[in-house]
Amino acid sequence: MSQNEAGKPRVRFAPSPTGKLHLGGARTAIFNWAFARATGGTFVLRIEDTDPTRSTEENEGIILRAMRWLGLDWDEGPEVGGPYGPYRQSERYDFYDELIERLLAEGKAYYCFCSPEQLEADRKAAQERKDPFQGYQRRCRNIDPAEAARRAASGEPCVVRLKVPDGRGDVVVRDLIHGDVVFNAKELDDFVIRRTDGTPTYNFVVVADDIAMKMTHIIRGDDHVSNTPRQVLVYEALGAPTPIFAHVPMILGPDGKKLSKRHGATSVEEWRDDGYESEALVNCLALLSWSLDDKTTIIPREVLGREFSLERVSKNPAVFDPKKLLWMNGEYLQAKSDEEFAREVLEPSLVAAGLEERGCVDARPEWFSLLAQILKPRTKLAPEAAGLARFLYGELPEMDGKAERKGLGNERARPSLKAAKAALLGLESWEGDAIDAALEPLPDELGIKKRDFYQAIRVAETGSLASPPLGPSLQLLGKDRALKRLDASLEIAG
Ligand code: GLU
Repeated sequence: MSQNEAGKPRVRFAPSPTGKLHLGGARTAIFNWAFARATGGTFVLRIEDTDPTRSTEENEGIILRAMRWLGLDWDEGPEVGGPYGPYRQSERYDFYDELIERLLAEGKAYYCFCSPEQLEADRKAAQERKDPFQGYQRRCRNIDPAEAARRAASGEPCVVRLKVPDGRGDVVVRDLIHGDVVFNAKELDDFVIRRTDGTPTYNFVVVADDIAMKMTHIIRGDDHVSNTPRQVLVYEALGAPTPIFAHVPMILGPDGKKLSKRHGATSVEEWRDDGYESEALVNCLALLSWSLDDKTTIIPREVLGREFSLERVSKNPAVFDPKKLLWMNGEYLQAKSDEEFAREVLEPSLVAAGLEERGCVDARPEWFSLLAQILKPRTKLAPEAAGLARFLYGELPEMDGKAERKGLGNERARPSLKAAKAALLGLESWEGDAIDAALEPLPDELGIKKRDFYQAIRVAETGSLASPPLGPSLQLLGKDRALKRLDASLEIAG
């Protein structure tokens, strides 16, 4: 699995485990995964945990679980290994150090001993003389390397900076989505690649790893565009060709502002816990800035993994619309067979709502398959199934106050309930169709409007004004309880 045929793309998703997997990160992961699958390439997962104050193992676990739940399997990375590991940056410090030493030896990087005060004073002075370049003034660039190495070895605090080659000219980032993005090399500092505490910086380790792991395409959020020219310089210093960049546009909320907590749940985990189908979430996120054609909206994961192409990623930001996700979720639920719906949606939803113990599907298979059949078309989101099924539990239904007033608080209720009781009592076959057929002639016989009649029966049986169809609902309740409920309502009917 981990080996890749020569010439095939290698891409990676490189989350920093500083929090949960957010929708933006998930979309980046989806694009990388789909691109790898569609091209027969390799999808690598790399954990960028070089910020020890913010990265935690717990977050890493959360991200990996979210990836698995989304169905984004990785070919190389934590838990699966691979030929270019380790795949956690915190386990690669020796490797980064070796590279930095190499750059120092080659004169492509140098030690800088400037104190923070010195740097601040230089910056202020540049500001005062209105110098357009206010970055590092290259004070240490020309210190004799042997002398600098001696000072560093003696423990003098220092950082290592990358030497931007003289006359480098503009740095052009070739981006598949944005086209060529040009950065003026003059504005690019001799930036730090190793800090005073010896740790390498982000722009350095990302490139070091992307080279070592043989990445061919870098697909990531466009918040990284501004880092890219520095990274290009690192590629050049390390003597490696730059990969193809594809910076995907950010995700906006329905109000057109950058997606954030204000817009509701932002992590994959929250959407999962709210009962969404992973495939619906993947589908919805994939359609943010990407399209299969101009019309298809339902794109199952395996189609995405076959048809995805970077050419169809737009550079315009896309809006994440929770309403569309909910609609899509409903579509995925409808696409399930009744058995799948019973097992994957209904049962967990009933268990989560405390209505059933796990294993209920096996215990009463026919009962569950009938329930699944009537609830599936009415469910857009798993927890709704439990809400719709709640009336089936307990001897008497929980009465909704308003429903009770409307359904039972009028003089049509009593005769309706009595007639229904009489008709159902004598019924031999307790099947939905037979129940419906027995009730059907009653409103006319009683001279009561259908609406009033059924409202009374519905409230008596389910405690609410809206419920799944009556016949199958009563079948599921069973004859005894259905009759008991009519009796109970006769006691309170107006
Ligand atoms: N670790 C970076 C992040 O989580 C991603 C770096 C990259 O994709 O190059 O934003």
